[in-house]
Amino acid sequence: MSKVLYEKDIQKEVLQGKKIAVVGYGSQGHAHALNLRESGYDVVVGLRPGKSQEKAEEDGFKVLSVADAVSGADVVMVLLPDEHQPTVYFESIQPNLKPNSAIAFAHGFNIHFTQVVPPLDVDVFLVAPKGPGHLVRRTFEEGAGVPALYGVYQDVTGKAKELALAYSQGIGAARAGVLETTFQEETETDLFGEQAVLCGGVTSLIKAGFETLTEAGYQPEVAYFECMHEMKLIVDLLYEGGLENMRYSVSDTAQWGDFVSGPRVINDETKDRMKEILADVQSGEFAKGWILENQANRPKFNATNAKENQHPIEKVGRELRDLMPFVKQSLKSKQKDVKV
Ligand code: NDP
Ligand code: MG
Ligand code: MG
Repeated sequence: MSKVLYEKDIQKEVLQGKKIAVVGYGSQGHAHALNLRESGYDVVVGLRPGKSQEKAEEDGFKVLSVADAVSGADVVMVLLPDEHQPTVYFESIQPNLKPNSAIAFAHGFNIHFTQVVPPLDVDVFLVAPKGPGHLVRRTFEEGAGVPALYGVYQDVTGKAKELALAYSQGIGAARAGVLETTFQEETETDLFGEQAVLCGGVTSLIKAGFETLTEAGYQPEVAYFECMHEMKLIVDLLYEGGLENMRYSVSDTAQWGDFVSGPRVINDETKDRMKEILADVQSGEFAKGWILENQANRPKFNATNAKENQHPIEKVGRELRDLMPFVKQSLKSKQKDVKV
């Protein structure tokens, strides 16, 4: 088994006394900045004027322009949306990076696909929490943490790995465990996971099940509960105790159906498609498409999004959730809590 590190394995001295600039104050940014400050570190936030800036100031941070935050920092954590990072990097970050400082990321996309090419005189590391930013914050406040992957791309000072580990500890990740990776592994597994399983796989599975039932004449409300609503209950059981725990909790009939029918839905053909998806991620084909889509102002993204929001399962779902106040409540507080 790979070595998972915890707080006791980590030296904090390497980060102590250093100035940390957290660039961006969204899902990850607010969590990193607040957790690091409460862990005793000196944090400034780098932002453009706007909503996030107001929020960071309300939370008591010194907010500077990205350029000023970077020029005073020993460690710069880039927590901007991945698709905006290259522009902000070349305009405001790179010209102000101090020699022998460190630049860090929470996802390897821009470094791995060379959209950001750092100078040769800085450390470059990754601390990628395996959970949404709002959980990184909430679990920290509860005395726990979200696990993270860490990795080093460039080690100029000889201390990049220790810095990454101390940073992981500062955001609370070492309470849950941190595991070494590379920018390549983190990027490729993250993209594959969200496409084939977590986001793309699950939404397509849910829609196909719902369509099969409603096209056969069953009520959309029944199909919604069956294919969407119950998903959470099943996933919670999987999260807590794996496949065995879920199968223990459902009826034996459901478990038998799982055994005989699951492999009819997801089979070798599906796995071949997954291998194609992985190959597109590995070859840079997926990254190229996404970068070009953004350069063209997202025509396909926006059209698909509008169409998806009109899917019949979304319509019936909105109506049903309106009648379930407890579900609505959690939606209100959801914010941007769902990125993987
Ligand atoms: P968000 O979209 O939640 O937040 C982005 C932040 O960047 C906002 O504060 C926004 O401020 C600011 N920003 C956007 N454009 C600019 C700009 N041009 N100049 C200055 N500030 C700007 O991002 P996430 O936290 O989701 O993602 C950050 C990184 O973390 C990404 O690399 C992502 O892959 C990674 N990650 C995210 C996870 C998640 O849970 N969301 C999980 C693991 C990794 P404004 O209000 O001004 O727009
Ligand atoms: Mg992910
Ligand atoms: Mg991702």
